Amino acid sequence: MELWLATGNKGKLNEFKNLMDALDFEIHSQDELSYFSQPPEDGDSFQANALIKARALHSVKPESWTVSDDSGLVVKGLGGLPGVHSARYAGPKAQPSENNAKLLKMMQIRCGSQREAHFECYLCAISPAGDEHFFTGILEGSIAEKARGSGGFGYDPVFLPQGSDRTLGEMTSAEKNAISHRSLALKKLLQYLKEFSQLK
Ligand code: IMP
Repeated sequence: MELWLATGNKGKLNEFKNLMDALDFEIHSQDELSYFSQPPEDGDSFQANALIKARALHSVKPESWTVSDDSGLVVKGLGGLPGVHSARYAGPKAQPSENNAKLLKMMQIRCGSQREAHFECYLCAISPAGDEHFFTGILEGSIAEKARGSGGFGYDPVFLPQGSDRTLGEMTSAEKNAISHRSLALKKLLQYLKEFSQLK
């Protein structure tokens, strides 16, 4: 059975492939489809954006499983921002360092000592029959006073997981993968697909 991933991100693709190694699925990515163009992610929630991406890919691969993910950082004191705007918080072509700098500035202006935040991930899986399933993962934590570490990507250098004195940027990828919002959601998806394969 083929499973098509609605992502062009090589890091995510490898993470999926490693975790799904034990399952009997042939993993492909949308990058293999030269004619496929990704739809605009204009939903107002992670769930809506994950659904937009999975449906678009499913429309060209209806006989396979299609899986998408959408994630971002939610800061309580900023009313949920950057949220669905995480990738482009400091502007349409913003680099992660610019997003982090804007975030730290906004925290200073608006949040005082209230620095709670979480990462959220939504995975959407559409079966060959067209059923739509969602799997979620959350990583609770807070925003550090300044960026630390060069590991990971995006907001990792400014995110302190709950109970840790190191940011995600200061952790190894194995340490991050053991707790991350994405791996939590992926584990739920894997469990579901495992049960599905055993039913066949
Ligand atoms: P995506 O749409 O799921 O690729 O993620 C949107 C944005 O959320 C990314 O560009 C990052 O800014 C942020 N983000 C999502 N997950 C993570 C993470 O694990 N670490 C740091 N930033 C993340």
